Amino acid sequence: MSVHDESTLREQISSLGKSLFDRGLTMGASGNISVRLDDGGWLMTPTNACLGRLDPARISRLDGQGQWLDGDKPTKEQFLHMAMYAERPQSGAIVHLHSTHSVAVSCLPGVDPCDCIPPLTAYYVMRVGKLPLVPYHVPGDPKLGDAVRGLAGQHSAVLLANHGPVVAGKNLEAAVYATEELEETAKLFLLLRGENPRALTEEQVAELQRRFPA
Ligand SMILES: [Zn+2]
Repeated sequence: MSVHDESTLREQISSLGKSLFDRGLTMGASGNISVRLDDGGWLMTPTNACLGRLDPARISRLDGQGQWLDGDKPTKEQFLHMAMYAERPQSGAIVHLHSTHSVAVSCLPGVDPCDCIPPLTAYYVMRVGKLPLVPYHVPGDPKLGDAVRGLAGQHSAVLLANHGPVVAGKNLEAAVYATEELEETAKLFLLLRGENPRALTEEQVAELQRRFPA
């Protein structure tokens, strides 16, 4: 079965959502997932849905303009996904979580707003790259969508201050892996705070970008 098959994608959203939930990367009804369909529309997790208990048949389906077609009503954070997709035609899926360590980094004083986490590991550089901080906005503020859109062309992942990461990938598996890599690297960064850790050098980062272009 093709990975583009809609029913396969519905199952994949549910199983990866449960996997994220079961490992504590998302709690309660927070977090949302979307996948681009071959017809130009999207599948998106519903509002107030727990990612650990998604019903594949009730996942929201949107048309190419982002209008709700069927399934349960989409997440109220739909605009974050649409802002990323608008600037990233190459991205097929987006994951947004309120994952603890990433949120912790987003609240720290003194993080570089152009790049919140240093390049501690090669896989972080390859899967996430530079992570800009989006200033805090009240949930649902359309200005938050504008701020995300302004960064999404250059960045596959952004970190919303006092809120959480929004991560795009070429497909759902890639977006989930990048989100996990970000969360684990945020944890490493917090473990190493005050230790003056040795990050990868500019030359080492450039070599990774050359050998493994995004
Ligand atoms: Zn959120």
